[in-house]
Amino acid sequence: MNRKENYNAIKNQLPAGVQLVAVSKTHPAEAVLEVYHFGQKIFGENKVQELMEKYPVLPQDIQWHLIGHLQTNKVKYIAPFIDTIQSVDSEKLLSEISKEAGKNNRTIKVLLQVKIAAEESKFGLEIAEAKALFKDYVDGKFSNIHITGLMGMATFTDDKEQVKEEFLLLKGLFDELNQLKTLETLSMGMSDDFPAAIECGANSVRVGSAIFGRRDYSK
Ligand SMILES: *Cc1c(COP(=O)(O)O)cnc(C)c1O
Repeated sequence: MNRKENYNAIKNQLPAGVQLVAVSKTHPAEAVLEVYHFGQKIFGENKVQELMEKYPVLPQDIQWHLIGHLQTNKVKYIAPFIDTIQSVDSEKLLSEISKEAGKNNRTIKVLLQVKIAAEESKFGLEIAEAKALFKDYVDGKFSNIHITGLMGMATFTDDKEQVKEEFLLLKGLFDELNQLKTLETLSMGMSDDFPAAIECGANSVRVGSAIFGRRDYSK
């Protein structure tokens, strides 16, 4: 496996204006550094502990995105440096991020994670909940956070029509909320489905294994 070739192949498939979040979970800091040297600055991790191990040993100009479920009691660890939290799925979590960002005198960018998959998934806001939370935000209920967009994951299936329907559902919500206050980021699509996500309006994709290779969870 050649990460440089993988990386270039992905970059070549991304239209101008589509952001790439390189998902480095389970891969060591050395692998992140390798891809950083290809020119990649945005990396995504799904676990706070793993992020806390990599953050101090890697270049400080990396923009870290948290893309996995976040427990409120762990927000304090990442609040000093996290660029974007893509996985905000409750008002309680949003309030905690707001509080911890304030303590650090920063503004943290967040995406609301919305449940779009037909399959039973544990995390993500229902569409109605996302709308209500965004309205509270627009009304000024939260300080020190900037809701910059939405994140969603499609069902893990070979049914391409279903995947597109789910992506389009999130694009519809994005357009609706964008009328209330301008949003920048629609994060959908992973290694297997990012081209479909882009067709459906994604302007940020989260690609892991297609760059770094397969993940080995046994280590
Ligand atoms: C792991 C992960 C990805 C990347 O998955 P790949 O299939 O390896 O590209 C994207 N988004 C989230 C939320 C993830 O947890």
